[in-house]
Parts: sequence; C-alpha cells; structure tokens
Amino acid sequence: MAGKIPFATKEMIEKIAETYPTPFYLYDEKGIRETARKVYKAFSWNKGFKEYFAVKATPNPYLLKILKEEGCGADCSSYTELLMSDAVGFKGDEIMFSSNETPVEDMQLASKLNATINLDDITHIEFLEKVAYIPETISCRFNPGGHFILENNIMDNPGDAKYGLTRAQMTKAFKTLKAKGVKHFGIHAFLASNTVTNDYYPELARQLFTVAAELKAETGAHINFINLSGGIGIAYKPEQSENDIMAIGEGVRKAFEEILVPAGMEDVKIFTELGRYMLAPSGALVTQAIHEKHTYKEYIGVDACAANLMRPALYGSYHHITVLGKENATCDHKYDVVGGLCENNDKFAIDRMLPAIDKGDYLFMHDAGAHGYAMGYNYNGKLRSAELLLQEDGSVKMIRRAETPSDYFATFDFSEFFKK
Ligand SMILES: *Cc1c(COP(=O)(O)O)cnc(C)c1O
Repeated sequence: MAGKIPFATKEMIEKIAETYPTPFYLYDEKGIRETARKVYKAFSWNKGFKEYFAVKATPNPYLLKILKEEGCGADCSSYTELLMSDAVGFKGDEIMFSSNETPVEDMQLASKLNATINLDDITHIEFLEKVAYIPETISCRFNPGGHFILENNIMDNPGDAKYGLTRAQMTKAFKTLKAKGVKHFGIHAFLASNTVTNDYYPELARQLFTVAAELKAETGAHINFINLSGGIGIAYKPEQSENDIMAIGEGVRKAFEEILVPAGMEDVKIFTELGRYMLAPSGALVTQAIHEKHTYKEYIGVDACAANLMRPALYGSYHHITVLGKENATCDHKYDVVGGLCENNDKFAIDRMLPAIDKGDYLFMHDAGAHGYAMGYNYNGKLRSAELLLQEDGSVKMIRRAETPSDYFATFDFSEFFKK
C-alpha cells in the first residue's frame, strides 16, 4: 500500500484534542527546521544565498520566527504581511516585497521598512518615486512571455500571466532606474507553480542568468541578486517522486558556472521565495469523522470543511488522508470525505479508497502546511480553526487560537445588533 507517514500518532492527537478541539492545524517544528537546513545546504555554494519565505503561504508569526532562526527572510505582498514580518523582527533587506497592483499604502510601508522592493511593472518606477523614493537597491520582475517548456512539456503559460516586465521593458527599466541613482539590481521571475521536477529551477536560472548578463552588458547595471522565487512543488500524492533539493541546487550551480562566472558576475547572490516547498509537508489539518451517510455514495462527514482547507474544492487538489490508528488497515472502502458547507464541492476526497472509518476517528490530512490555513474563509459562518505547533521536545504549543463567534461578528462592532 502506497502511503505517507503522519508526523503525529493517534495517541498524540487524542491527547491534543483534550485541550484543543478538532479541527485544528498541526505543524511539525522538526520537519520545518530540517527542510530549511536542506535548502541552505543545497545552495551553500552561493555566498549570499537567502530564502525569503513566501509569507502568504503560511502567515503565522511563530512559524516565521522559526524560519528566521534558520536564516530565512520574509517575502511579502501586502500591507498586513509587511506588518507581520516587521513584528517578528525581520529588518530591512530581510524583507522582500514582491507585490503586484500595489496600493499606495503598501508601497509606502515597504519603503519605510527599507524592504527590498521588487517592481512588477515599468510604470511602478514612476509610482514608487511619487509615493516614496527610489532606493539604491531595487529588483524587477521579469516575464519572458510565451510558454515555459521543460523537455517538450508545457509547464506553465507566462505569456498569459499578469506579472512582470517584458524583456524590452527590463532594459528600459534598468536604464531609467540607473539614471535615478539605483546602484544594485535584482531580477525576479516566477514562471511555473508546484513543479515536481528537479529541472524547473535550473532552467529558470539559465534563462534569468542569460538575461542578467545581457542587462549588465546593455546598461552597465550591477546585478546584485537573482531571485528564483517560488514554484518548487511537493509530492502531494504518495506515488509521486519527491523533488531532490540537492539536485536542484546543483543544477542551478551548473548554470551559474556556465553563464554568470564567464560574464564576470560570480558575486551574484541567489535568492528564493519558496512557500509550498518549505512548509506544506510539515503541516496537517486534523479533523474528526462526525457522521457517516449511505445514499448513492458512501460519505464520511468531518468537522472540518473547505473553509479550513480550500485547495480540494478550488483546484480539485489531492491531499493524502491517513485515518489515525488504522495506518496498516486495508483500504477497502470507497468514500467521499466531506465537510459541512452548503456547497457540493466541499469534498476533501472523492471516491477515495480508505480503511473502514468509524465516527470519532481522527483523519490526518497531509501536506496542508502551506496554502492551507492561509486560504481559509468564513463562508457559511464557519470559523477558522486553531493552529498548533508540535515542538521539537514533543510538547504542543498553540500558535493561533480558534476563532469564536465574537471574531466573526467583530466587523459589526459599530452596530447596535452586537453591542455588548
Ligand atoms: C506565491 C508566491 C511565492 C511562493 O510560491 P510557492 O508555490 O508557495 O513556492 C513566491 N513568490 C511570489 C511572488 C508568490 O506570489
């Protein structure tokens, strides 16, 4: 039986559930630190390497603090993400601001915090100058257009993506910025998402390194860093083979040696903005089976719903499910595992072969540590769950409390209906 091993046992979850009712998110500190260390090891050949964790994937200050301790920075895209990163203690160039369609206040806050600003459009030069000022170090997001192809497979469609500057705009932007006093430049691109191949970063690096060398020759700009952004995926399905981060780092190193070193650019720093790869496997949504229903199909109703984990409902994504305590039981029952939203797409699994599930069983939904809690919402008046951290010493710490009805009604605090 193909499987995935949960980072918590039934006994541990039963104990936790005595204090924190299901559903809840549980994160594994040990796994988070191990992944961060692997990423740094894979890029240790590059002197200035830094991973800027994509805050939007898992915006929790306690988890950001762990990543900060492992040497990571924070990649923000909004005002509140900037506030959270500042609160955790990320300073100046430890914050990357990769936003798009940026509001004035967001740009001004990024500027005030001395974050490294990554411009999404050529018009944002004028915008930034108007609402704040042009700093000495700045980055531009590149979009090569067309399709991103790996071994004859179309991985993604940058030509259809709203992000970034065209190749011609990159040259123009670098010249303009240089004339306005910029001394150091960064180049950023995010061309394919959730890639499960060791070739994505090396191919992206090759493209960006080539453009970097061209831009240096054309404009005389000093390229300080190249930001490979996010996009390294994880094996959500047990039968998929995982990415090998060491091979990925080595592939990027090869491209670096072949393109940047001959161009006299061996001081270029490599940055990443990984979200999913850093945290997805180290987080799980834990939920309890509360109903079973036999109609035209077999249903297991759980106490979590798509408002807690939206990916299956939104993208039809697969999240592996382990029925805790039944890890070795035969998967001889075909279920739809469903939440309680009044929406038929509120299904965590469809026609999934699982062991016989009894009411009260705990289900461990794997790989929910990124783009999980973060995408939660309040539809049907559902409340967001708690987030808990399984610490390295085995103890459990609450890192976000569950919402209560007062949180749900908080935005009516001006109104006579909810006066205390
Ligand atoms: C979402 C995002 C990331 C992280 O993407 P993952 O797929 O989680 O690695 C990084 N950078 C930017 C600009 C993003 O929008």
